[in-house]
Amino acid sequence: MAEKPKTKSFKAYTGGKYCPKCGPGTKLGVHNNRFACGKCRYTEMADKA
Ligand SMILES: [Zn+2]
Repeated sequence: MAEKPKTKSFKAYTGGKYCPKCGPGTKLGVHNNRFACGKCRYTEMADKA
């Protein structure tokens, strides 16, 4: 029996925003008006109108 992933993957941001701390490969999840990294808890406000 295959192991299930522990965490649910965040919704992929269509802009392709990556975590500056974790580097490319780790996408930031979208939460309301901000992006959040599920790895290092890095958060960034979305300045998109
Ligand atoms: Zn990160």
